[in-house]
Amino acid sequence: MNTTALELENIYDLAYKALSAHGCDHFNADSVATTVSHAERDGSVSHGLFRIPGYVASLKSKKVNGVSRPSNTYLTQNAIRVEGDYGFAPVGIKVGLPELIKTSNKHGVGVLTITNTHHFAALWHETEALAENNLIGIACTAYKPSVAPAGAKKPLFGTNPISFAWPRKNNTPVVYDMATSTMAMGEVQVAARDGHKVPFGTGLNKDGEKTDNPSEIANGGVLLTFGDYKGSAIAMMIELLAAGLVGDLFSFEAKEEDNNDGGPARGGEFIMALSPELIAGKNWNEHAEKFFEQMTSLDGVRLPGQRRHTNRQDKGPRQINSELIEKIKSLI
Ligand code: NDP
Repeated sequence: MNTTALELENIYDLAYKALSAHGCDHFNADSVATTVSHAERDGSVSHGLFRIPGYVASLKSKKVNGVSRPSNTYLTQNAIRVEGDYGFAPVGIKVGLPELIKTSNKHGVGVLTITNTHHFAALWHETEALAENNLIGIACTAYKPSVAPAGAKKPLFGTNPISFAWPRKNNTPVVYDMATSTMAMGEVQVAARDGHKVPFGTGLNKDGEKTDNPSEIANGGVLLTFGDYKGSAIAMMIELLAAGLVGDLFSFEAKEEDNNDGGPARGGEFIMALSPELIAGKNWNEHAEKFFEQMTSLDGVRLPGQRRHTNRQDKGPRQINSELIEKIKSLI
């Protein structure tokens, strides 16, 4: 793979210009380009510039509203619904998160349900932002079916990611963010593009047989959940929270509605915040730090989120797939 070095601000500019060229106003283009450039900064490459052609496709087809103005409604004193106005998820999150932070720090717990949005990003952006405001963050979203429930050979679940972030007073938060499939479809697509194999059993081919060929999984095959029936139960929970509770589309409904333009389908997101200060009490940070000390004292253990936070220290350029850069430039 040929790569080109791009400074972080040039990554942002490239994303911003591509989105603006296809109808996004400043508020929408800035929200998405910021998320994309932060993904590249942290080494979350499957949710960085790689997603721009899909974002643009959904603007071109008019599936996504590039001038969205999401709005908040308080359902209860600490349950807020964001009406996403058919825009990209980072825009709705930008509008809803400050209210979630406010109400959760006041009441100890808060829920944000985001509806009528199009999610194509990693979820650590939102959970980490909650942790940076002294809150525990949990977020999940469903997507079009590409994952078979335990026992099945046909997809019903999306890759349904879930993220959890724990705040730390004198350190970067502990954050995990993972698809409930064996791999995120974005990673499978990147592996297919770059000619790499994936671990055997990541998914099934179109004949229902286990394979290590990412192209066979991405084209007519199906992903499996991590941990067999246990991961399948978590993927089901995500469907129920992000669609059943939020009141938005289940993965199978998103597929029925989507125009298959290559961009993100419509759906919802469930976000929850909890205040350790109000729930656990004053000593919560010292207590959790003792646990992290025990954990990291074990040989071979690192805390989730650490890889990204280490990448973030590097302020220099990032190596981006040259073909991808040319493809995005051709969209501007
Ligand atoms: P990974 O398997 O790469 O990583 C999952 C998590 O495990 C990360 O938090 C990672 O932390 C952590 N981790 C990895 N290795 C270790 C280790 N050795 N020790 C401790 N922790 C570790 O992620 P996925 O491929 O499952 O998902 C990638 C992204 O795709 C996610 O950000 C997810 O939100 C996104 N996604 C989005 C979808 C959408 O519809 N919007 C759909 C599906 C996925 P670290 O980052 O520090 O390595």
